[in-house]
Amino acid sequence: MMLMGLRRQVLDVSVQVYRTQMARGTSGNVSARDPESGMIAITPSAIPYERLQEEDIVIIDPNGELVYDHQRPSSETPMHTLVYRERQDVNGIVHTHSLYATVFSVLNKELPVVTVPMAAFGPVPVVPFRFPGSQELAEEVVRCLGYRQKAVLMQNHGALCVGNTVEEALECAIYTEEGAQVSYLALLAGGLNPIPGRYVSAIKEASQI
Ligand SMILES: [Zn+2]
Repeated sequence: MMLMGLRRQVLDVSVQVYRTQMARGTSGNVSARDPESGMIAITPSAIPYERLQEEDIVIIDPNGELVYDHQRPSSETPMHTLVYRERQDVNGIVHTHSLYATVFSVLNKELPVVTVPMAAFGPVPVVPFRFPGSQELAEEVVRCLGYRQKAVLMQNHGALCVGNTVEEALECAIYTEEGAQVSYLALLAGGLNPIPGRYVSAIKEASQI
């Protein structure tokens, strides 16, 4: 029963990722962990978002082994399982190829805190390029996330956001993309002024209460 709720959450967030155009085709992936059993619900490999059904969401154990199901789990499963193993506070992960966040990943440029929502989790650093779906990429992501970071960009690839719930991870992905759009347009328009550091710290503290 618990796992059915988890699948539903993953499906609902995946639909949002698709509707907000943060992923196209079969790119990007979403997962949620049940904090009690440690079981993970993750989007399947190679099924387009518009055809995704609740029963297509795959249930895996903390090591990435299939529990049951007919679909293959996302090719980025090693990244999801490693993040969950290293971060007990994380129960949801959203990986997107959202356009402007990906542009910053191509520039290999840390995304500064330019908007108020971003202050809760930014700045957003870039993880060096590694083969998609590899253990090496998973390790670089986990290293960059450390104990507290909630969002990273992956060079020439996209963004990865985590949260205490998968809905929180989605929110982080939305604000990462918004911040990237604002930054990109500000740079084009002539200059980019991040929010002063002392305010970022204060907003971060306030958001963690
Ligand atoms: Zn990807």
